Amino acid sequence: MPPPAAFLETCSRLLGGDGVLGGEEATAPYAVDFWGQHRGRAAFVLLPRRTEEVAGILAAASAHRVPIVPQGGNTGLVAGGIPDGSGEQVILSLSRMERIRERDPAGEYLVAEAGCLLARVQEEAEKAGRMFPLSLGAEGSCRIGGNLSTNAGGVNVLRYGMARQLVLGLEVVLADGRVWNGLKPLLKDNTGYDLKQLFIGAEGTLGVITAACLRLFPAPRERVTIWLAIARPEDALLLLRRFRDAFGELISSFELLTGFGVRAAVEHLPGVRSPLAGDHDWHLLVELSWNLRRGLAGPAEELLAELFEEGLVADGTIAASEAQRAMLWRIREGQSEATRQMGEIVRSDVAVAPTRLPDLIRRMQDFVREQMPEIVLIPFGHVGDGNLHFNFVVPPERVAAWRPRLLERLVEEVVGLGGSFSAEHGIGRSKVAELLRYKPAVELELMRRLKTLFDPLGILNPGVILPRQPEGGGGIRGPAAAKPPA
Ligand SMILES: Cc1cc2nc3c(=O)[nH]c(=O)nc-3n(C[C@H](O)[C@H](O)[C@H](O)COP(=O)(O)OP(=O)(O)OC[C@H]3O[C@@H](n4cnc5c(N)ncnc54)[C@H](O)[C@@H]3O)c2cc1C
Repeated sequence: MPPPAAFLETCSRLLGGDGVLGGEEATAPYAVDFWGQHRGRAAFVLLPRRTEEVAGILAAASAHRVPIVPQGGNTGLVAGGIPDGSGEQVILSLSRMERIRERDPAGEYLVAEAGCLLARVQEEAEKAGRMFPLSLGAEGSCRIGGNLSTNAGGVNVLRYGMARQLVLGLEVVLADGRVWNGLKPLLKDNTGYDLKQLFIGAEGTLGVITAACLRLFPAPRERVTIWLAIARPEDALLLLRRFRDAFGELISSFELLTGFGVRAAVEHLPGVRSPLAGDHDWHLLVELSWNLRRGLAGPAEELLAELFEEGLVADGTIAASEAQRAMLWRIREGQSEATRQMGEIVRSDVAVAPTRLPDLIRRMQDFVREQMPEIVLIPFGHVGDGNLHFNFVVPPERVAAWRPRLLERLVEEVVGLGGSFSAEHGIGRSKVAELLRYKPAVELELMRRLKTLFDPLGILNPGVILPRQPEGGGGIRGPAAAKPPA
């Protein structure tokens, strides 16, 4: 049943005419994910500008038992911000809450509203002579509330940690419409449970993040960006060790790519050239940075010379300009975009201890070679964190039959190696079955209890992370159903 008319009236009164979108044409763009692989249906879309409006919406949603799907930039890859197909769920888009509320005069933090684009937060930090280190391929489209709700990772985790390490405080609207103001700019605060950490990575199932106090870091002054050709994934680990020994925490990124993925980028991404002559099976993109103006490039060149001499790298280059650096990163960030030109992509994002990555890659290569030889396997990503994105290029006519088998096999191998079946992207609607199958019963029970405590009526993102509970979340009851605005 669609939400009752009284709920829609309250929302229209709170948000004004342009704050409520209805009708298939207006809502459809919000109900499909970035790669067009998950499609839902929304009753309507709400676009608040202020925390009090979000509070009013959630109070009304609780009163009328209307299921709410929070949404940021809609770049999530597990359909957590996409409504189900019922047409009953209402999207709450934070995209108009874009203010920077506070800039610390000392440059240690800033307070951003949930709808600020990640790229904007990075720019604001730069204006203050600082850096906000969260960085990922979707940074021009994803929003900070979505980044925190997914506990996003990206390319700088090795040095700065995941999103949860970058937050000092949060403002959150609870399911019943109360506002929790936890926007304290404190690095140290041991006054009981750290509530903000519960909302980070909760994918909109425990509350709606409306603002965040974000940590800023000194902006690096010298960066050395290195591209290396290697023979085997095992060599990536040997090199990680050598780079760690030499540069410790000055390594910010350590990314692995396949030769196939690099060739696809050169072929399909405009303006991209091959970084090295010749063909290589595996590549590494390594970035070092620090706050002094010079002195890092020399030791990096010395290490590369040693590695060449020992035969650990086949070829390599150091970016000589900002334009070259940008091109190397374009190859890395454009992996999904480039490879999807060659077939349909079945993707997953997993982690194992870094030393087990080569084993995982080999097991999946063997499986594909033996059982589905038409598939090209392209593992790439944050090898320094033990996290790889597994993209399988599949002939379109085979996707429906092969997707479940491929993903099931990957998860089995990952779990067998003691890893995680979702390293960065979360559970959303896509990985609920895996969660139920592989999480220990005690963990599942604690998660269910937390959900019931924070969202007793089950109105926040029902069906995401945990399956919908039969007694709540979406059981929309009301006298007269609302006719969505045209
Ligand atoms: C090209 C590309 C590259 C990517 N690279 C990476 C990467 O390297 N690392 C990585 O971690 N991810 C990556 N992602 C995935 C995605 O960008 C991240 O998950 C991102 O953090 C999602 O932010 P968003 O604003 O788009 O959130 P959305 O997709 O809008 O929402 C994601 C989840 O958060 C919830 N949510 C959104 N806003 C709020 C809020 N204010 N309060 C409560 N809940 C909320 C939603 O309900 C949903 O469950 C990539 C995606 C693409 C398309």
